[in-house]
Amino acid sequence: MYDYDLLVVGSANADLVIDVERRPDAGETVLGSDLAVHPGGKGANQAVAAARLGARTVLLARVGDDTYGRLLLDSQRAAGVDTVGVLVGGAPTGVALITVDPSGDNSIVVSPGANGKLFPVDIQAAACLFHASRVVSVQLEIPLETVVEVVRSLAPDSRFVLNPSPPRPLPSEVLAACDPLIVNEHEAKVILGDACVSERPEDWARILLAKGPRSVVVTLGAEGALVASREGVTRVPSVKVDAVDTTGAGDAFTAALAWKLGTGSALADAAAYAARVGAAAVTRKGAQESFPTADEVAAL
Ligand code: ATP
Repeated sequence: MYDYDLLVVGSANADLVIDVERRPDAGETVLGSDLAVHPGGKGANQAVAAARLGARTVLLARVGDDTYGRLLLDSQRAAGVDTVGVLVGGAPTGVALITVDPSGDNSIVVSPGANGKLFPVDIQAAACLFHASRVVSVQLEIPLETVVEVVRSLAPDSRFVLNPSPPRPLPSEVLAACDPLIVNEHEAKVILGDACVSERPEDWARILLAKGPRSVVVTLGAEGALVASREGVTRVPSVKVDAVDTTGAGDAFTAALAWKLGTGSALADAAAYAARVGAAAVTRKGAQESFPTADEVAAL
């Protein structure tokens, strides 16, 4: 019996957002809206998304001993995430400085802060969480050596889900543990590098699978997703919705998929559910604020 459906290991950031008429050029100062501060970071987002669906979720992350760290802890707890694995101190909380112009285009500067101080030793110290969790979900806003340590810490019968965002080349040890590797178009192209010889997502999925993961999911925005395993490639449609803001759709999709896999769903069924969750998330503004409950997904 597991204590948690899902262990998320990853980043927690404060997103500092200012709307501007025009994003500034080098050396230029522009005036903008009042500052809005939102809890974010891919790890924190995934944990909130899963907990809101009803998954028993625990987050392993690092935040600073500061105002933004407390904001992030509060948002996790409000969603029902167990924060026993959130380490505090060692560096300021990670921050993303975001300016958004009227067309919705943005410029982002990220200070990883405490996310960059989540070290392999922190993973080793949290061994009990790995034994208590059915599924472990990770992204790449933490050091790669920490991700490698996560793979080495997995309990024998737990499942490892990786969304390699921001994308970078991955060691074969990490690729081989993924079940599934979840990528969007951009991430697929970076991970494939020179092996990306086609514009067809079906081909990306097949070539990625040949690199070692036990399964691969390619998310395709409004087009849904592709699921690839040794049995073949399956297309999973999304739900038609009026999209308002796609921020966090990938995090909501990954969290839902990871949770459903842990409840025993087949990969294609878990992806179909995750596509509904991603679709629900794009109907509302923001990231964590946009994540649906299970009832809202059922009503979609
Ligand atoms: P982001 O980086 O914006 O968080 P992403 O690029 O990682 O997202 P997407 O492929 O855009 O991931 O979205 C994840 C899933 O959410 C899709 O597979 C799909 O099921 C759902 N989704 C996203 N956008 C839409 C949309 N406009 N309409 C319906 N479903 C959508």
